[in-house]
Amino acid sequence: MQLKVLGTQSPYSTGAHHCPGFLVRDGQTKILLDCGSGIHNNLKFPDSLDGLTIVLSHLHRDHYNDIFIFQYASYVFHKLGRLKKPLDIYLPASPISISRDICTEQNAFAKYHPLTEDTKIELGNLTLTFCTTEHNILTFAVKVQSKNSSLVYTSDTSFAAKDKIADFAKGADLLICESSLLESYGYPEINNHLTAKQAATIALQAGVKKLALTHFWPEEDVNKYVREASKVFGNTIALDEGRYFTV
Ligand SMILES: [Zn+2]
Ligand SMILES: [Zn+2]
Repeated sequence: MQLKVLGTQSPYSTGAHHCPGFLVRDGQTKILLDCGSGIHNNLKFPDSLDGLTIVLSHLHRDHYNDIFIFQYASYVFHKLGRLKKPLDIYLPASPISISRDICTEQNAFAKYHPLTEDTKIELGNLTLTFCTTEHNILTFAVKVQSKNSSLVYTSDTSFAAKDKIADFAKGADLLICESSLLESYGYPEINNHLTAKQAATIALQAGVKKLALTHFWPEEDVNKYVREASKVFGNTIALDEGRYFTV
């Protein structure tokens, strides 16, 4: 499977950097993990909408703001006869007001599916499974498995979910892990997000092959996250918009 990085930053987009979004492709299968502010700039419409499955890991704005752009574009291109298949959108059922806001959008060509820990999505050669993290709203980490490889995206989480996420990510080829914080700034161990060092600790415990850091503070030097994490887990990189990986 191929991964295209669309957004790596939070809580807002700047220039070519956008909020979380990752496009996974395998043959005809296209899956968008999160729909953060600005990521539509890195996709070509309507081609990208055709046969697209969207998974929203949680309903914080940095992870779903662009869903309304995808919905409206799907509505317009469907009206124009240029989009034949509705978007499939998977999302948490809570917070209810936000979930309802998305699912009742009138100007959309989409089908909606509630996400739970038992959800299993099979698309072509890919299987998606889910695991809740510890965050201040219902949040899901996602695992994408092909015949020969797997990637895990943690979404947002506190270090309190360390063991659960390490189990979920066991042996993955690629762990896309949020690292919003730097330990050097003196954050408490249990926060609403991970430090780069904590992301590396989870990668080590899970025995993954490669750690890809994401969810960076816009004003911070990205190299600082990699330096902090690399002391614990050697094969660490920082994701960057537009980059492709074969997993
Ligand atoms: Zn969040
Ligand atoms: Zn976030």
